[in-house]
Amino acid sequence: MSDFDVVVIGAGNAALAASVSAREQGARRVAVLEKAPRALRGGNTHYSGGLLRIAFDRPDALRALVPEAESEVPGFYAGVEPYPQRLFMADLLRVTDGRTDPELAELLIGRSYDTACWMARQGIEMEPAVSLSAVKVGDTIKWSPGAVIRARHEGVGLSAMWFRIAERAGVEIRYDTAVVRLTQDRAGRVTGVGVQGPDGFAEITARAVVLACGGFEANPEWRARYLGRPWDHAKVRGTRYNTGDGLRMAMELGALPHGQWTGCHSTPIDAEAPPHGDRKLTDKTNRLSYPYGVLVNTRGLRFFDEGEDFQFYTYAKLGGIILNEPGGIGWQIFDAKVMHLLEGRYKTGTPVMADSLDALVGKLPLDQAACRRTVEAYNSAVTEGRFDPTVRDGLATRGLPLAKSNWAQRLDAPPFAAYPVTGGITFTFGGVRVNDRAQVMSTSWAPIRGLFACGEMVGGLFHGNYPGGTGLMSGAVFGRLAGAHAAGG
Ligand SMILES: Cc1cc2nc3c(=O)[nH]c(=O)nc-3n(C[C@H](O)[C@H](O)[C@H](O)COP(=O)(O)OP(=O)(O)OC[C@H]3O[C@@H](n4cnc5c(N)ncnc54)[C@H](O)[C@@H]3O)c2cc1C
Repeated sequence: MSDFDVVVIGAGNAALAASVSAREQGARRVAVLEKAPRALRGGNTHYSGGLLRIAFDRPDALRALVPEAESEVPGFYAGVEPYPQRLFMADLLRVTDGRTDPELAELLIGRSYDTACWMARQGIEMEPAVSLSAVKVGDTIKWSPGAVIRARHEGVGLSAMWFRIAERAGVEIRYDTAVVRLTQDRAGRVTGVGVQGPDGFAEITARAVVLACGGFEANPEWRARYLGRPWDHAKVRGTRYNTGDGLRMAMELGALPHGQWTGCHSTPIDAEAPPHGDRKLTDKTNRLSYPYGVLVNTRGLRFFDEGEDFQFYTYAKLGGIILNEPGGIGWQIFDAKVMHLLEGRYKTGTPVMADSLDALVGKLPLDQAACRRTVEAYNSAVTEGRFDPTVRDGLATRGLPLAKSNWAQRLDAPPFAAYPVTGGITFTFGGVRVNDRAQVMSTSWAPIRGLFACGEMVGGLFHGNYPGGTGLMSGAVFGRLAGAHAAGG
């Protein structure tokens, strides 16, 4: 008899969803094996904003997830727009240039609402994502479509709730236990794992194994190998433990790679952020209010259309774009007109401030003459119109070689502020191919028996870019599927 019915590798959102789902579907002995010590548990999930992108037909459908919403945010439902599955699909297709895997995308989107309800039934509490998604205009709060809800107390809360739920469900969690290889019988079925734990090397047998141990974002050698320069020296926004182990182990067994192996999610973060995620700061180093300002590099030049789209549809590619600029550094410049619109996370940084634009530029370590020309040209190219942060307002510059397509207002109201930013890597897009049961497919295009994958390890969904709040939803959908089918044997 095997030691366990189901062994899950990793202890983030995807893994814990899988373990709870496996127990729910009848697996009696379920173990979660986590490389990190208990004090550093939770993977990237712990560092996340906890935002969940969910398809729903009526705002009212969110009542099942956030029954307290109206008392927490009076008038909540009035500012929420329906986000039917076709809009989620349109967003995913648009930001990935049509490259998302259609079957995986269908699964993710089609099951997003049902899975969020399942999470809520398990005991994951949720709340309106006020500081991430809400924009207040006058008396109305408008919510970014589809990205309205987050786990209560963000990723820290999500991780803590999943551990409580899994422990209550009887899942055994072993920390300081790195899985180093997968074992197989002569018929090719996965039979368990080899681990390096507190007592050295050991083997653990299982009827099924779920890989949920993240991408390779924290492995500089793999980043150099697949993403190329300058990713080898990127700051890692989350856990230091996601070093591609699961991908390596799966591919050693002949798993089929899938998706964009040269791609990753990366965001503009404080240039002074630590080299790996800080467990207290978590995602607060993010700097995502650039649509309201102007972004320049150390040459004093703009290099990105800050107003291309809402930040949730551009932030995940902008980190990489900044990292590829000279020195991997940029400056986000704002004036007093928009300072109230900056996300609360900006409070964790120290901006350079000045009472005139000229003086501000004079304080920045960049090509100041070029930067003065850039902001003057920008100010001259701003057109007349009504600024509205709740819609793509079409307030675009005219005549610049690189337009700002929306929310372009003159920088003219003192005081002025500049925030230094760099690109931080969040997670990698390349993964293994899974089928609609979350089984890992082999290079022979057949499922590898006994092996499942979920979370960041699933390749194919994201290419070049990503719509905010989709990673956790993907982890929950494929984690739940993987756990259920792993329990079935
Ligand atoms: C700062 C930040 C903010 C984010 N905000 C959001 C958000 O608001 N919404 C959203 O949808 N997504 C967000 N994301 C992305 C999302 O959090 C992650 O993609 C998601 O949590 C990944 O879940 P996972 O379970 O696949 O991996 P993880 O949560 O990273 O868990 C993987 C686990 O595997 C363990 N592990 C690795 N190798 C081994 C091994 N050999 N043996 C055993 N264990 C191993 C790791 O220690 C880790 O605990 C954010 C990410 C970051 C870093």
